[in-house]
Amino acid sequence: MHFTRLRLQGFKSFVDPTELVIAPGLTGVVGPNGCGKSNLLEALRWVMGETSAKAMRGGDMEDVIFAGASTRPARSYAEVAIRIDNADRTAPAEFNHADDLEISRRITRDAGSAYRLNGKELRARDVKMLFADASTGAHSPALVRQGRISELINAKPKARRAILEEAAGIGGLYQRRHEAELK
Ligand code: ATP
Ligand code: MG
Repeated sequence: MHFTRLRLQGFKSFVDPTELVIAPGLTGVVGPNGCGKSNLLEALRWVMGETSAKAMRGGDMEDVIFAGASTRPARSYAEVAIRIDNADRTAPAEFNHADDLEISRRITRDAGSAYRLNGKELRARDVKMLFADASTGAHSPALVRQGRISELINAKPKARRAILEEAAGIGGLYQRRHEAELK
């Protein structure tokens, strides 16, 4: 399973529909200050189920919607979609029905977020489970944001353990156990 494309529309500074190809291997994002590098990484986190507005550098989750500029009106919604190549069929069983998976998340002003998998609506917790099993996700140690390295160095053992568990791909197991206990 690997990411192949990231699509954004109305998300932060990416007001117009934008599509990026994610090639295999390491991807670097370069550009001048303020061009939207961090916004791109945040889009990736967001579509994987991030629930913290603070992690998106906002006060409210709706702050991810393009807020308008002197020449352009604000948007009413933001949408991000991530395409996954699942030709090796390594997605968790519940999601392993196609060679290409596209997860999208849309937030509409006053109406909250909705997720889709290949066009069909699904729950936020399913999205989180999918990415937790794939040892990635909104809090993945593979996504290293600014300031994170010093946080890791100073982290307490318990917090470090959570990072290692996420990297090992067992985060999804905890979530399943939690759901099973609720039933
Ligand atoms: P640096 O190199 O300084 O880290 P960067 O490339 O990471 O910069 P970002 O922080 O991703 O830049 O982008 C910042 C830009 O995004 C700012 O111009 C800010 O106004 C714009 N921006 C953020 N949220 C929104 C929004 N909701 N609507 C419109 N523009 C937004
Ligand atoms: Mg930045």
